Amino acid sequence: MYQVFITQALDKRKSVTMRCPGCGHYGTFKTLLNHDLRIVQSTIIGLRFCPNERCQTIVYFVLDEKTNLLLQTFPPLRIDFDKTNLPDEILKCLEEAITCHANQCYTASAIMIRKTLDLLCVDKGANGANLKDKIAKLRAKIIVPDELLEGMDALRLLGNDAAHIEAKAYNDVGKDEVEIGLEFTKEILKAVYQYSALVDKLNSLKKKEA
Ligand SMILES: [Zn+2]
Repeated sequence: MYQVFITQALDKRKSVTMRCPGCGHYGTFKTLLNHDLRIVQSTIIGLRFCPNERCQTIVYFVLDEKTNLLLQTFPPLRIDFDKTNLPDEILKCLEEAITCHANQCYTASAIMIRKTLDLLCVDKGANGANLKDKIAKLRAKIIVPDELLEGMDALRLLGNDAAHIEAKAYNDVGKDEVEIGLEFTKEILKAVYQYSALVDKLNSLKKKEA
């Protein structure tokens, strides 16, 4: 049996602004069809494409009309991050963590966040019994606010030694935990790899002026 939806074609199409899953830029997406469809109460579905002429990624969206919030998109929206100066292996690992998050696979994302941070500690020679210890050792080598590392205790996905997939720590990992974990990882990566790249750029400017 097919489920019969009551749908309504809408002449007035909603303005949809989002960060493009293709190129990463924010924009008000362009309309692709003559109508959006309203299905089940206040849910609207439609197609748009990226206004960036070099990208033009087509996005399918589901929007809640009352709150104007995007409930779902395909391709899924991805968390943005700065790739500057990141070693290949670390970049690949973080991208996989972000792909898992975008597809709502939060446990898998948490595992890849841990792996990203682990690779970074190995790269910088910060050893310890578990990931939390290793990151604490990094403190001596990088400049990050103390509050950031102290706040790490609240992140269960970094706590204990939850390296085993069956570890209970992962049972508590959801969207919020993963999003904060990704923010934390981005800050640590910035402190380890990207501040130095910025300082190098500033220094090269100084040399030109001299
Ligand atoms: Zn785009």
